[in-house]
Amino acid sequence: MRYASVRDADVAGRRVFLRADLNVPLKNGKVADDTRITAMLPTLHRLIAGGGIVVLASHLGRPGGRPDPELSLVPVARRISGILGVPVLFAPDCVGERVKSMVAGMRPGQVILLENLRFREGEKANDREFARKLASLVDVYVNDAFATCHRKHASMHGVPEAMGGGYIGMLVEKELSAFEKATTEPEAPVTLLMGGAKVSDKVEVMENLIPRVDNLLVGGAMAFTFLRAKGLEVGRSLLEEDSVDTAGRIMEMAESEGTRLVLPSDVVVAPSAEEPSRATTVDSSEMPEDAAGLDVGERTVEEFDGLIMESGTVIWNGPMGMFEVPPFDKATRAMAESLSRATEKGATTLVGGGDSARAVAEAGRADSVSFVSTGGGASLTLLKGEQLVALHPLSENPPPLRPLIGGNWKMNGDPSHARSFLRSLDEEMVPSEAAEVVLFPSFTLLSELSRPAWETGVQTGAQDIYYELQGAYTGEVSPGMIADAGGCWFLAGHSERRHVLGENDETVARKLEAGLRYGLRGVLCVGELLEEREADRTEEVVRGQVLAALENLDCWNPFNLAIAYEPVWAIGTGKTATAEEANRVHGLIRGWVEELTGTREALSLRIIYGGSVKPKNAFEILSQPHVNGVLVGGASLEAESFMEIIRCSRPFHLRS
Ligand code: PEP
Repeated sequence: MRYASVRDADVAGRRVFLRADLNVPLKNGKVADDTRITAMLPTLHRLIAGGGIVVLASHLGRPGGRPDPELSLVPVARRISGILGVPVLFAPDCVGERVKSMVAGMRPGQVILLENLRFREGEKANDREFARKLASLVDVYVNDAFATCHRKHASMHGVPEAMGGGYIGMLVEKELSAFEKATTEPEAPVTLLMGGAKVSDKVEVMENLIPRVDNLLVGGAMAFTFLRAKGLEVGRSLLEEDSVDTAGRIMEMAESEGTRLVLPSDVVVAPSAEEPSRATTVDSSEMPEDAAGLDVGERTVEEFDGLIMESGTVIWNGPMGMFEVPPFDKATRAMAESLSRATEKGATTLVGGGDSARAVAEAGRADSVSFVSTGGGASLTLLKGEQLVALHPLSENPPPLRPLIGGNWKMNGDPSHARSFLRSLDEEMVPSEAAEVVLFPSFTLLSELSRPAWETGVQTGAQDIYYELQGAYTGEVSPGMIADAGGCWFLAGHSERRHVLGENDETVARKLEAGLRYGLRGVLCVGELLEEREADRTEEVVRGQVLAALENLDCWNPFNLAIAYEPVWAIGTGKTATAEEANRVHGLIRGWVEELTGTREALSLRIIYGGSVKPKNAFEILSQPHVNGVLVGGASLEAESFMEIIRCSRPFHLRS
């Protein structure tokens, strides 16, 4: 199942609910382990860089639906502030008037963390009213809380349901793709290494994966239930009497599917976990009645290691012994080493979350396996072959995209014009929900205009860009200079630069790449001359310009790029292509992009039209299915006419 990704989300000027899993351990009022915080940072950075207003939310611990000062998220807000280097606001509750007014006063790029969602009973109960209250704070929903995705709680399920959909964050995306890679068409031989206390927790995982794996290696306390099913003595080891038959059934299933099921051949035993000094290793068929098995033995480790090293894919879930108590951590650590060496040899190695993730981290091997999941229950759900319940509301309703409305001021405007323009927009309220609006003033006005524009919900960009980041290039403007001036967009290849100032396809491609790599968002302008149109060469010319810019470009996505089709004969002339003609060329452009990069990117790429767009023709042009916005020159100079054009736009769904 594919989900709309936050990478493609249009968040500029929008309030975004970012549900993360910030359920981190605290010690003396401080975050003791920030793994889960750092795991969601790519999504947070993406939202901040995209000009979103981030409303971050999470649960922490089990406060039982009531406020509990010990489980406040304040220390987490402090840690995130420390990491980002900017203040993160903190809301003393997650819903209510106070929170609403705090969120309403925020500016793009700011982050607020709501207080622990589980201080409210409605969260775990997936209460509709509570979900609606959370949803009313924001415009866009993003789920990056992988470790909570198996929970049908209000912030996970009710909110996206109330909002008609949402996006997955980059952590959820990474987790899903790691599990998909390891479980559907994995590289053979495939080894499943299972451990942990209970067979009953993992039966469905084994049943789901046995038909797909070559080796099933069983360690941890659950191995004793299997050994008992074989009729062996297990002494005082942890045993699940109720699951002995199940273990027998799993062994039969493995046999009939041709999966090699390997149980420990030796075991480390001690009278109890409190007496590690009395630990000895015995054959698993000779376990004494008065001792408990607390780890698998060295011979078993060697056997498991041999099979792991021959594998193309290894999936690990659950520790091999009581790894919290040395020396019973030995086999678990050895398995972490094995996976790390197998990864080095080229195997794909996936560590399910929870205890196995902790074990790999403690063994210092978290960075040397292919992927360590941040979720325990959620990773088990995926290994069972089930869907994550929190993703249901996200799957069917990819959120609509906003059209892009650009205003290219060329060499017009001065500071007083810029100020009064913005004042008029402010009074009229830019309908930022209906469109993403970007002004491209002259470079000298950019820094003056950018900040007040942001406050009005309008973004800014530069009319041109240079492809070098620095150096002796008199008069040129680098990507960094644009960003410093507050611009986040740029135009590349405007027809006046191509045909009046002599820019060619190669220069345009270099400029586009430099700007996008820097993190700016670009509008690639393409279009044919009148004589080319009259010679029936429109398709050939426009295709050539699109391919020259995108063919070798690996850093674009539908968020950071838009293509403007601007027939040169229509720019500033009062002549426009008919709406049907514009739509036809836009459809062709989408097809060429699809050939280059695939359907998903092509379908959500905004292709906008430019060339004498005025209030009187904007509606017809913007109503065309392949026209996802407009680039306006002359009519963008007056706030009133520009506003009229903006009012013609509507969010749109793209369909293949
Ligand atoms: C432009 O400069 O990109 C443009 C489309 O101008 P106009 O709207 O004035 O034709």
